[in-house]
Amino acid sequence: MDAWQAGDLEVRVDLEGAHRYLKVGAPLRFGRYSEIRTSGHVFHCGPGGAVRFVQGRGPTWPHPTDWLKRTARGDWVYYSAADYRDLHTLLGEHYLPCLSYPSNAVLWDEPFAHPAVREAIRAAESLPGRLRGIDVGDAPPPVAGFLARAAAQDRDRTAAGARRLHEILGDDLPVLPPDARHVDYDVLPVLVADGCRHRCRFCSVRSRGEFRVRSEADVARQIDEVAALVGDDLPNHAGVFLAQHDALGAGAEALEHAARRAFELFGLAHSLVGEPHLFLFGSVRSLLEHGEAPFAALERLPFRSFVNVGMESADADTLAALGKPVAAAEVAAAFERMLAIDRTYRRVEVTANFVLGERLPPGHLPALAALCARTLGGFDERGTIYLSPLADEAAGGEDSRRRLRAAFRSIAPHLRLPAYLYLIQRL
Ligand code: SF4
Repeated sequence: MDAWQAGDLEVRVDLEGAHRYLKVGAPLRFGRYSEIRTSGHVFHCGPGGAVRFVQGRGPTWPHPTDWLKRTARGDWVYYSAADYRDLHTLLGEHYLPCLSYPSNAVLWDEPFAHPAVREAIRAAESLPGRLRGIDVGDAPPPVAGFLARAAAQDRDRTAAGARRLHEILGDDLPVLPPDARHVDYDVLPVLVADGCRHRCRFCSVRSRGEFRVRSEADVARQIDEVAALVGDDLPNHAGVFLAQHDALGAGAEALEHAARRAFELFGLAHSLVGEPHLFLFGSVRSLLEHGEAPFAALERLPFRSFVNVGMESADADTLAALGKPVAAAEVAAAFERMLAIDRTYRRVEVTANFVLGERLPPGHLPALAALCARTLGGFDERGTIYLSPLADEAAGGEDSRRRLRAAFRSIAPHLRLPAYLYLIQRL
């Protein structure tokens, strides 16, 4: 580790954070990073020099364990670990990610209105300009090299990187699987199939266009280009997201090809943040129609894999109200299939999404509890259920959000599986 100081600027480079993702409510860093401290802030940068995390110092910062994170897209997310004693019960994590864009959050803070938070974002965005103005003549070479990289990571470059990522993929990524929480949503994306096989009327995240599997050549191109774009920061990743809404529908061969190439080109054998994780979405029909082959293929991969399936409801009236074009019997069959896969495979976990909303038909939650009671003899730890609040109800004010949290607390103990709220995040 090399260090250097100039005025109120203290720099330490090549620090080692945790070697795997740990579930803690503290500003723990993962992988390799460098730190810049000023009188007002602490910035943590990835090996490429871009600011990934910032915390305010001093009494105006909302809470000493809170921090801001900048995503690959350039979104700021405020991590709050304070004041929510039952965060883990609700989210499976020890912090609350507060997003700077509309989502389906039912726990809400408004950190982005806080002057110290706004100031921290301004400081992070102006840091490259400040670094360009300092003389690093007497800095050790590793520090001077890092500061040169950090000085080049200005706002335009961050925005250009986000644009380039979506250009490489040929689409926006409006929603990440909830299981991506296991790597704090730091995923390297590869789009293996566009669109979705279902066209649910209530869906607000589906990409336009028909379901279409990408060619192996296109997948290979994406992986090469994403690897080149992420560059020095690749070793700080352990997660790969095979997009879009129904990658499972691409079939075993396409999944295995994409995952193996990603593992190799992203250098995941040398990840600094632990065991590689693979995340994808699947649909009810893909889960029912594709048999064992995709799961047997995933089991052979050097990844721990999570397949998240949007089931939405086990109640016919609710499926009709949502405009989801599957029958309640198909959802029940998909749920049983999920449990069978989770009992068969060691390195693959299928998880399920169901919606949560007080304007849904009254049979929705009882049907879900009945499905769990019928199919599960006792409690099980594989086959997590995510309850996804409907976005319009989550946006309906604190009373509405409190009722949604109460509905979650009333149903979760009856599901016999780990159950958490699904917070929709984009990449
Ligand atoms: S299955 Fe999911 S992504 Fe596809 S249309 Fe329905 S809700 Fe949207």
